[in-house]
Order: sequence, then C-alpha cells, then structure tokens
Amino acid sequence: MAIKTEDGRELRSFKFKEEDESQEVRAVERGILLETLASQLPPDAIRFSSKLAKIDKSESGETLLELTDGTQLYAKIVIGCDGIRSPIATWMGFSEPRYVGHCAFRGLAFYPDGQPFEPKVNYIYGRGVRAGYVPVSATKVYWFVCFNSSTPGPKITDPSVLKKQTGELVKNWPQELLNIIDVTPDDTIIRTPLVDRWLWPTISPSASTGRVVLVGDAWHPMTPNLGQGACCALEDAVVLARKLASAIKSEPTSVEDALKSYETERWPRIFPLTIRANLVGSLLQLDNPLVCSVRNNVVIPKVVRLGPILEHTNFECEPLS
Ligand SMILES: Cc1cc2nc3c(=O)[nH]c(=O)nc-3n(C[C@H](O)[C@H](O)[C@H](O)COP(=O)(O)OP(=O)(O)OC[C@H]3O[C@@H](n4cnc5c(N)ncnc54)[C@H](O)[C@@H]3O)c2cc1C
Repeated sequence: MAIKTEDGRELRSFKFKEEDESQEVRAVERGILLETLASQLPPDAIRFSSKLAKIDKSESGETLLELTDGTQLYAKIVIGCDGIRSPIATWMGFSEPRYVGHCAFRGLAFYPDGQPFEPKVNYIYGRGVRAGYVPVSATKVYWFVCFNSSTPGPKITDPSVLKKQTGELVKNWPQELLNIIDVTPDDTIIRTPLVDRWLWPTISPSASTGRVVLVGDAWHPMTPNLGQGACCALEDAVVLARKLASAIKSEPTSVEDALKSYETERWPRIFPLTIRANLVGSLLQLDNPLVCSVRNNVVIPKVVRLGPILEHTNFECEPLS
C-alpha cells in the first residue's frame, strides 16, 4: 500500500505481510463475485431482475412479496439484502440512512492490452479530497475520488458530466491517476453520496421481525472508509447461514430465534465498525491546511502503523457445514 500527497510526494508505503502475516488485500469485481457465488447453486435457485414493490404479512403467516411485474410470492423466510434504500428495512421501521457530508466518484479503468500497475493499493490525500486506485484484474483498475459536499447534490447519470466533474476535482494531481480516469469507460463511472445508519441499542428496530431478516447494507449501511461494507455483508451471510441451517435441521431453536441470535452475534461487530468508519471518514476529509500538513508530515510518515489499522479486518469464519 502506498500513500502520496496530491503533488505526488510519497508519504509512506507499507507491505501487508510485513505488518501481519495473516493479512492480504483482495480487490474483487462485483460481477465476478456474484457469478462465483451463483455458480455454486442449482441453476434455477436464483431469479434475477425481480424488483420488490411491496412486502406484507399474509393471512397464512407467510410473508407476501409483490414484485413490480405483479408476481406475488409467499415466502417462509425472507432475507432482505436489498441495499441502502432497502424497501424491506423501511417496512420494518428503519429510518433512511443519513448523509455524512461527502460523496465519491468511482470507476473501473480498462486496459485492453493489460494494465501496467503493481498489485498494490494506492491512496492520494489532498485537502478535503482524496483518491485511491487498485488493480482488480489483468485489465481493470478500480479507482475512487472522495470529496466534501454539504448536500448529496442532484442525481447525475450523464457519464461525460461525471468524468468532467471528477477531472476538475483532481486536475493537478499525479498524472498516473488522471490517466486511469481517462481510460475509464463511461458506463462504469458513478457518483455516490456516502451514508450510514447507527444502530443504537433499544432505539433502532430489530434486524428481524418474525421470519424476515436484514443483512448487509439493508441493515447496517456504513461509510466505505474502512473498506468493510461488503466484507461485513459477506460475514453476515456466513453467520446467518449457520444459524438458519441449525434451526432448519430441527435443533431445538426456532427460525425466529435463529434470526434473533444472528442479530445478537453480529451487532457487536457492525455497530463499532459503522461508527469508526464514520469518524475515520470525517478525519480524512478535513480540509484545514494546518491539519492536513500535520497529517502529511507527522501522522502518516511517523505515527501510523498498519497492524492496528487493519485489526478490524480480522474475522474468524469457521467452515460452513
Ligand atoms: C464509494 C464506495 C466504496 C466502497 N468500498 C468498499 C470496499 O473497499 N470494501 C467493502 O467491503 N465495501 C465497500 N463498499 C461498500 C459496499 O459496496 C457495500 O457495503 C456492499 O455493496 C453491500 O452489499 P449488499 O449486498 O448489502 O447491498 P448492495 O450491494 O447494495 O446490493 C443490494 C441489491 O439489492 C437490489 N435491490 C435494491 N432494491 C431492490 C428491490 N426493491 N427489489 C429487489 N432488489 C432490490 C439491488 O439491485 C442490489 O443488487 C463501498 C461503498 C462505496 C459507496
């Protein structure tokens, strides 16, 4: 991992293995992850592009799911993994996630003849703006630019506008970053207002009601400053699968109890991470020149150690039976 300033000066570089033998970083393209997981299931197990319009309790005690094409499904168990604007979370009484004051542009640069970068994560810190890039495959490089904005701003879908706005934020930054943005296909660039939701005990609704349960961003949207949102969604899935499997194998626990037990196990992990990610983001987005100078000349080169920073990524995932 390398950290530079906006004028290209290297502040620090770390090797994950030197800090902690168990650590490595893997950048995974979402489509590939989805295909890999889906390929482990029977061919008809997943029905894609099924947009939920409405959810309700049915008279039979099952949950009624109505799709936008009018299809009605009666479900014994519903796992709501429908992201930050989850209609299932809304139905369960969760509030809208809260905007945290910064947005991110993201894209996937494409190099048809092979990308030229070393397998490392690169960060560039400016004042109130920061960027990063990391190779994800032999031909693709993921990048982001995060910036302060008092409001989430209008939804912009025109890719040429998105690319132009990104370029303006980092216009005198290292050429390497500008080239990466330049070779990014328009249809991979998006702008996302960053949000989170703090799950205060006793105040927030429960992660499950009856046989309906939330996982991932639908339950605990967090800002991406620790790179843990998708990781936590995967951890949720592992824990939930284990709890459900033992309930369904007719151990004394009911499905409803299994869902409550999943929440009890996951909350102590995701609540502190949500808060920590928020605080880290607020610190990294500071634009005060004095604070940024101390960060660049003292904190990053002399104080920061990778081991403690990455401790939160350790999650013991026992094999699923
Ligand atoms: C800028 C940025 C950088 C990030 N970087 C990282 C990182 O480095 N590491 C990391 O671990 N995480 C990162 N994250 C977080 C990560 O993207 C999310 O935490 C993760 O995608 C959550 O997965 P999910 O499956 O819960 O939700 P999502 O990925 O949002 O998936 C929700 C799914 O539900 C579907 N859906 C929505 N509404 C409906 C409906 N009505 N009916 C049916 N389906 C519906 C959507 O189409 C989508 O397929 C980052 C996020 C951002 C914004």
